[in-house]
Amino acid sequence: MPETNSSNSTFDLVIAGGGMAGSLLAWCLSQAWPNWRIAIIERQSKAQNNVPASFDSRSIALAAGSVALLQRWELWPDLVAKACPLEQIWVSDRGHFGKTRLTAAEYQQAALGQVFEVEHLGNLLVKKLAQQSTVTFFQPDVINAVTPTINQQQIQLSSGTELNAKLLVIAEGGLSQTRQLAGFTVSSDDYQQTAIIANLALAQSHQHTAFERFTEHGPIALLPLTGQRYSLVWTVDRHAAEDLLALDDAAFTAAIQQAFGYRAGIIKSSGARAQYPLTLRRPDNIVRHRTALLGNSLHNLHPIAGQGFNLAIRDIQALMLALADSNDAEADPGAYRVLRQYQQLREQDIKRVVWFTDALVRGFSNNSRLVALARNAGLAAMLLCDPLKKPLAMQAMGQGQSYAKY
Ligand SMILES: Cc1cc2nc3c(=O)[nH]c(=O)nc-3n(C[C@H](O)[C@H](O)[C@H](O)COP(=O)(O)OP(=O)(O)OC[C@H]3O[C@@H](n4cnc5c(N)ncnc54)[C@H](O)[C@@H]3O)c2cc1C
Repeated sequence: MPETNSSNSTFDLVIAGGGMAGSLLAWCLSQAWPNWRIAIIERQSKAQNNVPASFDSRSIALAAGSVALLQRWELWPDLVAKACPLEQIWVSDRGHFGKTRLTAAEYQQAALGQVFEVEHLGNLLVKKLAQQSTVTFFQPDVINAVTPTINQQQIQLSSGTELNAKLLVIAEGGLSQTRQLAGFTVSSDDYQQTAIIANLALAQSHQHTAFERFTEHGPIALLPLTGQRYSLVWTVDRHAAEDLLALDDAAFTAAIQQAFGYRAGIIKSSGARAQYPLTLRRPDNIVRHRTALLGNSLHNLHPIAGQGFNLAIRDIQALMLALADSNDAEADPGAYRVLRQYQQLREQDIKRVVWFTDALVRGFSNNSRLVALARNAGLAAMLLCDPLKKPLAMQAMGQGQSYAKY
């Protein structure tokens, strides 16, 4: 039976999807508007350890700007011991001359960002949300139908429960069903690539250095974790992924070392692997009547530049700001002007990051000599000329866009 602790089915806000973005949004809203009644609809049942399956073995790199927001939202003190500061990033193209290095010191920062395993954020949010009497979980459950009326959304769950909400926020990830039920259309661009992730144990310290290396076997990102460990994200075409996933741990470790080389030192062993097929998905709109998209439901990107959750954090900040700025929001969080402001705040940032990430994927997946020359010239130019390096660093630090106040 789905788990719920609510008898009253009217909410100020319903969040579809209780993953990283949905749970974080619920936490932020519950702190800023303690009287609002918030429902979370999550498809997956609680895992044995109580953490939703969305918080898997993945690690994420969060930009300095995102970390500042987690700090503001009173989550960072519980995460800091589990996070590894990112002090420099090497971007290089194996077998070609181009490379660039970004250091926190150049930008007068202690760190360019922080890296941690998402399960730590999951554990924390599950614990915090369980203490909020205004947040109700419907789990496992999914939305079957959404019927908009002038003043609210009527939401039918597959369990038979009916909810009403002034605002529906869809944060169900890239393959959201509710997004379709709510009338959004989505364009998809399948990269025909798979990201393989694993944690790697090193023979030496990583010295807080991340690597983004474009190799003939696909881009390899190594993100430093606490201890002598790297989080690996290796992007390969679908067939190569099948072969790599079939290897035993020792053979897989040897394959990474061979593909990446020794620039990051000696890799001793690799842990459990997981795979993510990569598709760029773009909805036609950010909002519709009494509905907002957020997180991967709004921008499902290639992980090459580590931007997905950084964008989701800025989505949350923008929605909070739009809610706070609107005179109507206290009474009606789904009011037209709230949604219009959210759309205006998010449009440019998302477009820019989607363009930047997509260009990176296409530029570096291409082995033609002309593209190789251009990208090498691009990397070399970045190394030689600081003003060109700045946009990459600003992106890494998540300072492309920020909204004060929330
Ligand atoms: C390999 C890899 C590495 C990455 N590295 C980085 C990084 O370094 N930095 C960074 O910023 N980002 C990174 N990302 C992106 C980041 O993981 C995503 O941006 C983030 O997971 C988005 O969270 P979300 O909550 O929107 O979606 P999800 O994590 O997909 O969560 C969606 C939730 O909705 C639930 N759900 C789905 N359908 C329904 C339904 N119909 N009804 C109810 N619930 C539903 C799911 O069960 C899940 O709990 C990476 C991604 C990958 C794949």
